[in-house]
Amino acid sequence: MNIAEIKSAVDAGHSVHWSNEGYRVHRDALGQYLITYLPNGNSTGLTDRSGTTLNGDEALFFVARPDLGVTVHCSACGSEDVLRDCWASWNAELQSWESTDLQDHAFCRACDGEAILIKRPIRDYGAASGFSSTGCDPVRAIAETGQGTGARGEVADTDPGGAAG
Ligand SMILES: [Zn+2]
Repeated sequence: MNIAEIKSAVDAGHSVHWSNEGYRVHRDALGQYLITYLPNGNSTGLTDRSGTTLNGDEALFFVARPDLGVTVHCSACGSEDVLRDCWASWNAELQSWESTDLQDHAFCRACDGEAILIKRPIRDYGAASGFSSTGCDPVRAIAETGQGTGARGEVADTDPGGAAG
């Protein structure tokens, strides 16, 4: 995002960040655009004094889009294959069971056991042209556990588990 895009996104009320969501771009009461590191409240100007050079890598500015919602993951393995308990009651008009109260208990099918669920915001990574090496460690950890390449390095022609259906 260039300076004009960042400012217009802030003015439009979007949640604009630099590098990760710990850095928030906003406009203060004096109309100055600031980058604030939320954990400690330290702020720096969006640009240098000339107003033409960003105080940060242009490619790392992005807009978080809460309207994209969240994904729900198992806190232990990161899988999205998780379930929540709920009660169902019979609806005589619709002739079907209707889910009612969502229960706290959760289950992860990947772990095959009880799970604590976490939510992750869905980001539009297209807004940032490059991935930095920071802030993506959890994602990489999940990818590694999911690779499943054996120590022997064998490559099977067909998967007996089948990709049927
Ligand atoms: Zn799990």
